Amino acid sequence: MKKGFYLLQVCSRSVSFGGYPIVLTGEIATMSDTHGSSVVGFASAIPENYFRDWIARRFFRVKSDRNGRVFRAPYGLAKVEAALLAHGYTRNDVIIADPYKLDKVIGPNTRIIGIYAMDPLGGLSYGSGILYWILKLADLPYRGLPYIAKSFFQVINHPAIKKHRNHVKIVVGGPPAGWQIIDTGKQGELGIDIVYEGEFEEDGPQLFDKLMKGEFVPNRVVAHRPVPVDMVPTIVTPPSIGGMVEVTRGGCGRGGCQFCTPTLSGMIRSFPFEGHIDKEIKLNIEVGGFKEITLHSEEFFRYGAKGIEPNPDKVLDLTKKAYKLVKPTEMIMK
Ligand code: SF4
Repeated sequence: MKKGFYLLQVCSRSVSFGGYPIVLTGEIATMSDTHGSSVVGFASAIPENYFRDWIARRFFRVKSDRNGRVFRAPYGLAKVEAALLAHGYTRNDVIIADPYKLDKVIGPNTRIIGIYAMDPLGGLSYGSGILYWILKLADLPYRGLPYIAKSFFQVINHPAIKKHRNHVKIVVGGPPAGWQIIDTGKQGELGIDIVYEGEFEEDGPQLFDKLMKGEFVPNRVVAHRPVPVDMVPTIVTPPSIGGMVEVTRGGCGRGGCQFCTPTLSGMIRSFPFEGHIDKEIKLNIEVGGFKEITLHSEEFFRYGAKGIEPNPDKVLDLTKKAYKLVKPTEMIMK
């Protein structure tokens, strides 16, 4: 994998002039590693009146090569890239791009721009909602959008996208895509062709095939079922921001929140340690140079459980094995 990665990086230089057929990117705030701290990333909920543009650009930095390929990707986007590569696309076809450098990666060859969003309209998510009330109670001014939403608009209105708009389809995905963009009736106004909801690995690549061929695709696509564990490839871009490694998928199974697409899938799955979790931990540490790993789950204590009751042995086993790989660096459980 290491060899392949560097070889493909070299190849990528030759295609960037005409643009990549598939450009994956996201809100600037989501694409940023916020100087290595996921916790600091919550600052993206701060409204834009606290961030002058030059401050925001330094704070929400994105590290990438001169062709615009990021060195670190949000985990969800790294999974989308991995699924497309496993489906047969190559890194000459697909790039996870620095949102500050879209002019380097979008061109006449580009057909799909996939935008990963966490809070595209702002003020509607957990983080920005809490911050709104904190500032209000502290009697501090709140003007404009949370920075994360502002950064979504900076991407979707980027001149490179506008310039090539007549031959690209804009696909927006991510946890809030359905309830923020469709349920608010904003899809048309924002110029988004397709909103994708749900897991990507099974339906997503086929959707992208259709878009590449110019075939009709409805403006809202909902993944039809939870993806079996063995169909989920491991990430290729190392490290994922925050050293994220997914250990379960399918929500917490407890909350029943109506907007929660993972839980609504109704099928919690645990990824095997050997050959999957260990591979992503090693990739993040050994190839990506990361020193911390975040084991991600909507309900960590249900790792390996068959029903709602936790299986302590499985959780301990996972923790010990992961710690062994990370040691002597730190491991955070989230
Ligand atoms: S994971 Fe559980 S608590 Fe979180 S949003 Fe989904 S249903 Fe709600």
